[in-house]
Amino acid sequence: MAADPRFDILFEPVQIGPKTLRNRFYQVPHCTGFGVEKPWSQAAHRAVKAEGGWAAVCTEYCTVSSDADETPYISARMWDDHDLRHLAVLTEAVHAHGALAGIELSHSGAHGENCETRLPPPAPSQIASDFSNITPKRMEKLDIDRIVSDWVQAAIRSRDAGFDIVYVYGGHSYLLGQMLSPFYNQRTDEYGGSLENRARMWIETLAAVREAVGSDCAIACRMAVSAAGGPGVELDEGLEFVRMADHLVDLWDVHIGSILEWSKDSGASRFFAEGWQLEWTGHVREATAKPIVGVGRLTTPERMAEIIESGVWDLIGAARPNIADPFIPEKIREGRYADIRACIGCNMCVSKGDVRRHIGCTQNATAGEEHRRGWHPERFDRAANADRDVLIVGAGPAGMECAIVLGRRGMRRVRLVDAADEPGGLTRWVPRLPGLAEWDRLRTWRLGQLAQLPNVEIETGVRMDAAAVRAAGADLVVIATGAAWAGDGRNGVTRGAIPGADASLAHVLTPEQIMLDGKRPPGSRAIVLDCEGYFMGAGMAELLRGQGHEVELVTSCEKVAQLCDETLEGPILRRHLHDLGIGMRAEAWLTRIGAGGADGETELGDTFAVEADAFVLVTQRVSDEALYLELAAAGMDGVYRIGDCVAPRLIADAIWDGHRLGREIDSPDPARPLPHLRERPGLDADPLTAVR
Ligand code: ADP
Ligand code: SF4
Repeated sequence: MAADPRFDILFEPVQIGPKTLRNRFYQVPHCTGFGVEKPWSQAAHRAVKAEGGWAAVCTEYCTVSSDADETPYISARMWDDHDLRHLAVLTEAVHAHGALAGIELSHSGAHGENCETRLPPPAPSQIASDFSNITPKRMEKLDIDRIVSDWVQAAIRSRDAGFDIVYVYGGHSYLLGQMLSPFYNQRTDEYGGSLENRARMWIETLAAVREAVGSDCAIACRMAVSAAGGPGVELDEGLEFVRMADHLVDLWDVHIGSILEWSKDSGASRFFAEGWQLEWTGHVREATAKPIVGVGRLTTPERMAEIIESGVWDLIGAARPNIADPFIPEKIREGRYADIRACIGCNMCVSKGDVRRHIGCTQNATAGEEHRRGWHPERFDRAANADRDVLIVGAGPAGMECAIVLGRRGMRRVRLVDAADEPGGLTRWVPRLPGLAEWDRLRTWRLGQLAQLPNVEIETGVRMDAAAVRAAGADLVVIATGAAWAGDGRNGVTRGAIPGADASLAHVLTPEQIMLDGKRPPGSRAIVLDCEGYFMGAGMAELLRGQGHEVELVTSCEKVAQLCDETLEGPILRRHLHDLGIGMRAEAWLTRIGAGGADGETELGDTFAVEADAFVLVTQRVSDEALYLELAAAGMDGVYRIGDCVAPRLIADAIWDGHRLGREIDSPDPARPLPHLRERPGLDADPLTAVR
């Protein structure tokens, strides 16, 4: 397909200080859970983006001092030569693909828990951190000078490690941003008070770093130009700071929000449309002629080209879009626009990278697996058993993903069969929950890819039983029949069903009954019982509220939709549900359900009674494994199962599982995942022995 010349502008080179970016695609810093602990995973994850055409790829936040150790989170560190060698693996891998490597040097100030080093976190003033409930040390002049000097040492090591772009980062209300902020900075010396004073440490750091490495490296400054209501500066002071520091900066990397209001920066699609930050970051041009990079979960070349043409930014920054598809630049260059695996804005990457300590992505099963499993997002080997036919029963996310991988691996014939009228499994209806429309990309992207594979056929409206599977005569059979919400209220709190919960009754409903079967709650008062704490309970509550019901959400979790805190949706979601008039009761569950009401119990053992006309059960899902078990019991060879049919799980993990089986269909025992490479710095994978 010929590339559209409208997008040529995206491929123009851009000069930043002493370095040249080969085009306008820029991977801004983002967390991975790798830091310097998993140097090979770190390098491979970044290198694949460089290979996919990004002009620059950056590390996550990388602290300069041991009093910013960031544990229990995993950040990168540049404290000593050991860190230098671990991060040099990244620069080497990235340079091999012609991209520049950036390092986001940082100090967390008041927000660093320092669980490892036990050092007191230094901050502008002794105000307890609103992020981690730590009371920091008010910095003395000695501390300020020492941190500036640490930054310089880290910058020199960064240059020596091969980094091209060195950050003086104060975004997300980290130390330099705290100094700038009248909320965190209540000093009365030359570092507090006026904007000039609050900017002093940041400007001193920029000047010192520039002096040390500015002729070798581009100096980038990352800042929130507006805290968007959080504890930082607002746009007028943000732009004034840009003017004050402009002579020391080669690249402005601009965002919005603060650490607490990070949800506004890395906004989930549930609440934020693509490009929403431009309302603030689109003004930075008024303060500088230097190159600017901004983000906005941008996935289409039309929008990217429009932004560059408007002149507000020089570079299209991306974290999530390039986690979901590291090959966006190459696909645009080749005119393969429909192949872009567009981010759905679910923020599972944030949950996995930050909280769960190993990045993963709902859309892109290969994210985070580049090193440890050797998965490449675009390359698939021909299977050793490609002469076999495969039958996949169930075209949910796991089945569709497996079919794509097997199709790309050249299997002779892949039949993807589903009982429903259209493929997609739960991705047919989850995007119809309030706010989740962008999640439909999970289904549409996969269907688009499947349509391009001549060896894959999709059949819908066909329910397979064991006899039909045998009659199909395929050499290999993959069961991907998914899972369904339990109709008896079984749950992990009481470890059993709830007396009176029976979804065959009119007043007891499951999500599938509501979304697929058209079952409607009787009466006006509905209770949603949520023992999962993710999007389904909140989604059911909002949906029914929108249909005019009085709704109460009862959850056994500490907070309503508590897992949504990991995806940065939680606080906004709870406020949203509250504003809609949905009642919420946390740390509680129902012990008996009846027509007209239920009995419940709280975590503290208090009992309560509620009146309601209908109950929606979001307690746990149950695998639909009967077909698999029947085939396995009959001793049929070459039968495997994937996704929720094995165990109900995150969509990201169901897709991952389908991908895994596809990659390993020709392994000695595909049912058994191949072992992955584990990184144990100091042992076999230690770059200390491999680099310099
Ligand atoms: P996963 O998340 O593991 O992909 P889903 O629940 O999303 O699972 O999808 C499972 C799919 O399997 C659904 O579309 C369902 O219609 C289909 N399915 C379940 N049982 C059968 C069967 N016996 N024959 C054909 N399709 C089936
Ligand atoms: Fe986008 Fe979700 Fe993947 Fe993150 S996990 S990159 S938000 S699709």
